[in-house]
Amino acid sequence: VSWRAPIDAIRLSLETAGGLAEDMASGRAGGLTPEDLTGILAEAARFAEERLSPENRRGDKLGSRLEAGVVTTPAGWPALYKAWAEAGWNGVDLPADLGGMGLPTRVATAVMELWTSACMSFALGPVLTQGAVDALEAHADAALKAAYVPKLVSGECTATMNLTEPQAGSDLGLLRTKAEKQADGTYRITGSKIYITYGEHDLTEQIVHLVLARLPDAPAGTRGISMFLVPKLLPDGSRNGVVCTGLEHKLGIHASPTCSMTYDTAVGWLVGEENRGLAGMFTMMNKARLYTGLQGVAVAERALQQATAFAHGRVQGRGPGASEAGPIIAHPDVRRNLMLMRSLTAAGRAVAHRAAAAIDRGQDELAGLLTPVVKAFCSEIGVEVASLGMQVHGGMGYVEETGAAQLLRDARITPIYEGTNGIQAIDLLTRKVLRPGAETPAMEIARCRRIAADAAKRGMAEPGRVLAAAAEALERATDVATARANDQERLLAMATPYLQMFSAVVAGAALTEIALADGRMSEEAAFFALARVAMVPGMLAEVDHGALPSWGAFS
Ligand SMILES: Cc1cc2nc3c(=O)[nH]c(=O)nc-3n(C[C@H](O)[C@H](O)[C@H](O)COP(=O)(O)OP(=O)(O)OC[C@H]3O[C@@H](n4cnc5c(N)ncnc54)[C@H](O)[C@@H]3O)c2cc1C
Repeated sequence: VSWRAPIDAIRLSLETAGGLAEDMASGRAGGLTPEDLTGILAEAARFAEERLSPENRRGDKLGSRLEAGVVTTPAGWPALYKAWAEAGWNGVDLPADLGGMGLPTRVATAVMELWTSACMSFALGPVLTQGAVDALEAHADAALKAAYVPKLVSGECTATMNLTEPQAGSDLGLLRTKAEKQADGTYRITGSKIYITYGEHDLTEQIVHLVLARLPDAPAGTRGISMFLVPKLLPDGSRNGVVCTGLEHKLGIHASPTCSMTYDTAVGWLVGEENRGLAGMFTMMNKARLYTGLQGVAVAERALQQATAFAHGRVQGRGPGASEAGPIIAHPDVRRNLMLMRSLTAAGRAVAHRAAAAIDRGQDELAGLLTPVVKAFCSEIGVEVASLGMQVHGGMGYVEETGAAQLLRDARITPIYEGTNGIQAIDLLTRKVLRPGAETPAMEIARCRRIAADAAKRGMAEPGRVLAAAAEALERATDVATARANDQERLLAMATPYLQMFSAVVAGAALTEIALADGRMSEEAAFFALARVAMVPGMLAEVDHGALPSWGAFS
């Protein structure tokens, strides 16, 4: 079954949950008109459907390969990347003077969903390249920007993000890669990085690595980390001292090379200030977190389309009232699974579009609040929907033939990388919600209540009631967290259930908002309200009274 770009669903979500209709009408969308949007989405859909989507299975089967330090992506991918980049897709939300289209981040988010649904392994490279452009634009000096940003945007080179080391994953304070300053103002970088996405490949000649490292006199922990730009090829064209020494064999995203990188006195240039590297990397990570959440939505959409088509074709059993065997879509339980898949996918997409809107509108606090929600909630729904998709296929889903298994394998990384979802939950609760003076969490809850009341008034009584009760429970959970601000053990134990409550309420409100704008309660929104938002008050018990397992319980 071939995947089709879900243009109508994306557009409805962008225009309503993402507020793009309002921003286009009031001229706050960078001059974007509804006609432009139609054209861009159609163009992206064409490339994604015709060129990228056929590569999904092929890339999974062939994978990327390493021989003598050279990584080869599936045959044809270098030309594919060239064609994709030449169409301008690296610069959708960059200003025209950087070679970009100058469009809102919401539009970049919409097309990124299409690339990722079509072929996640291909789309991961551009995620890092676009994040690096943001980081360089925000933190690098003029010379470094001039030397690399235009080439990253045009597609002449790609970028990577080098944080992880064997002993430093979630805890970047432990990283050991060294940087030594030279008389000419450059630095020499020495150390080993692991799990570096697209650390080496044949899509472009040049690769720009953004590397976190430590100066000899740097303070310990995260306050002593600096960011460096280390190109694969030096300005004179010679090879820099960085090589790929291994490729991981992994569960999914087989065509995306996950590289071990060795830096041996490689020449690097400082990006931003010494010891302020983590702040610089966060610029890159914010975009990467939004796009990692989006990966969940993208894979979910593909799993949904595939499972729906399968359910129409597979004949097994008699549906209620039927006299002979028919397609499994006749079974209410199969349709229930499909509707759950649809509602989770739409919910994830709506939350991602809200976060992208906050970025576009310069609502930094709201964007900061929603970023961990998008990263964790959308990546979780990606795995859940891909797993439901496999379930709909029965045994045909578990064997590799149909591609349903690949979707689950590909989706499974998203709750892990870009900061594990546990870390996202802690970020949401301790740094965003409990930050002294934070106003947006209460504003979000008030907003959800308003949407609930609106729904109740406009003929959507049940979802409105469910959403109002969930908002109430979320407010109580926030009070519990506030009261526990000094009890680290219990506070940190409630972070994940708190994020789950928060996500369900925000997603439920966003879907209800779409339903209200559309003038009728969509089945997706109603289903999400009843299947997920209705669970939120029950989750308060886990947050409030949940027993905290002791270390002893695991000895
Ligand atoms: C396919 C793939 C691609 C990747 N791409 C890149 C890349 O391009 N660049 C890059 O730098 N890295 C990359 N990574 C690394 C990835 O970001 C890390 O794997 C991730 O951040 C987790 O670190 P870790 O694996 O060391 O796990 P750990 O940090 O050891 O975590 C193990 C478990 O402990 C939990 N845990 C750890 N610390 C805490 C805490 N403080 N509170 C609560 N729970 C905690 C985690 O949630 C997790 O469940 C990639 C990884 C993979 C597998």
